[in-house]
Amino acid sequence: MTAMQPTSVRMSCRIHVHEDVSWKPSRATEETRMSHSYQVIFENNREWAEHKKELDPDYFRRLSRSQNPSYLYIGCSDSRVAVEELMGLEPGEVFVHRNVANLVIGMDLNVSSTIEYAVSHLKVKHIIICGHYNCGGIRAAMLPQDHGLMNPWLRNIRDVYRLHKDELDAIEDEHQRYDRLVELNVQEQCINVIKMDCVQARYVADGYPIVHGWVFNLRNGRLIDLDIDFAHLMDDIQKIYDITDSHWVVNQRKVG
Ligand SMILES: [Zn+2]
Repeated sequence: MTAMQPTSVRMSCRIHVHEDVSWKPSRATEETRMSHSYQVIFENNREWAEHKKELDPDYFRRLSRSQNPSYLYIGCSDSRVAVEELMGLEPGEVFVHRNVANLVIGMDLNVSSTIEYAVSHLKVKHIIICGHYNCGGIRAAMLPQDHGLMNPWLRNIRDVYRLHKDELDAIEDEHQRYDRLVELNVQEQCINVIKMDCVQARYVADGYPIVHGWVFNLRNGRLIDLDIDFAHLMDDIQKIYDITDSHWVVNQRKVG
């Protein structure tokens, strides 16, 4: 989440090894865009669809048949984080859920049903929780302010702060503390994913999904894999949260 920016439309076609032509809005579209016209979205969309068909006449027929993504991406709603673009993936390759500050809350039917569908039906192999530096949701939770309807949502981030209070309070630099809370929030949301029954059941059955914690660095455009030590984390929490009645080890296949 961040402060509202003037509406703009950015659609671009990623360059692939089998494609030597990239799509860009026409000059006329560029000029129209400057007027912030709502209609420009449909003009851009028409150009994009035509470009896709020029490259591959069968593209939309194939796309409409089914989806078979390997990844479930759970990230922040922030408009600066362009999911498929920064991952270099095409439509159909990543199942996406976004909310303010990339939270996975057990009582949130929205994220819970998304994970259930992705894990049990789409059979994704990887679940990615991706936070980002300069996250307005994290920042808001760090401030002693009343955010109205957002308060119950932001309270989940404040809970993360409370869990890691000693480490965070020991960081003197405010910006570094802010960055660290972004990372710790990702870690806690990964743990929340692992707590879910559908995730544990599938993991015991076939060793998937594997859960990853990432941060997108808006300052340089790079993704950071936090390399969260889930085996260690699970040693701490498995006794409480394991609901499979099996001994299982995170990021390894079932062991008994
Ligand atoms: Zn954010």
